[in-house]
Amino acid sequence: MNFYVLTLFPEMVQNCLGTSIIGKAAEKGLLAIEAVNIRDYTQDRHLKVDDYPYGGGAGMVMQAQPIYDAYLALVKRIGYRPRTIYLTPQGPTFTQSAAKALAQEKDLIFLCGHYEGVDERVLEEIITDYISIGDYVLTGGELPAMVMIDAISRMVPGVLTNEESGSLESFEGNLLEYPQYSRPAEWNGKKVPEVLMSGDHQKIESWRREQSILRTRRYRPDLLKQAELTIKEKAQYGVYEL
Ligand code: SAM
Repeated sequence: MNFYVLTLFPEMVQNCLGTSIIGKAAEKGLLAIEAVNIRDYTQDRHLKVDDYPYGGGAGMVMQAQPIYDAYLALVKRIGYRPRTIYLTPQGPTFTQSAAKALAQEKDLIFLCGHYEGVDERVLEEIITDYISIGDYVLTGGELPAMVMIDAISRMVPGVLTNEESGSLESFEGNLLEYPQYSRPAEWNGKKVPEVLMSGDHQKIESWRREQSILRTRRYRPDLLKQAELTIKEKAQYGVYEL
């Protein structure tokens, strides 16, 4: 899968995504991440890429021309117009299911805004999806792009060594994952729940299921209302009263 990031700060993207699981997947050829410097495409002789907003107001707006030319050069190279995402606090919030769906694409382009944002006209020309990573305002779209690339990459087959860890995690069936423990069996006076050392897989599974439900009820009751639960579980864990 190929990710292309249109940005004014390419080094930010390259430095961050070259490490850890994503970096290894890129080395194996499962992913390719390329940062395209929008400034390389400006026609301004002072390399300017932003200007004052029409109508007045604070801050600067990223101009249409350099973004459009960077996009066209990229599309020419790729050979078609892939889904193109504008990271914006105004879009619907990114979710695990969106990550799964986007992982089906062969190529994705991300446009990172800065300052007050981007001239609306270029967004109308090139953007297929507007996505936010949460209800807060960041200084630029690079961190949101990297958050999305990380989450999407994990859904690409082969990126995680254990295929299961991509599918049995939080948000599967709208539940959060159960608590995890590792050695030693006792740490700081706290013991690992006995059931996990019993070797009884059925008991372990039902303990984990219960912990998932309790945890989701405690931290994300909004999710629990949409979770895949049996009628018995719904009654037992008070889902009807949420
Ligand atoms: N003036 C814009 C507004 O009020 O909607 C905010 C601009 S913000 C300071 C600069 C850039 O950061 C945006 O163009 C966008 O690319 C990125 N950004 C900021 N917050 C974001 C969020 N929550 N999700 C995704 N992108 C975000």
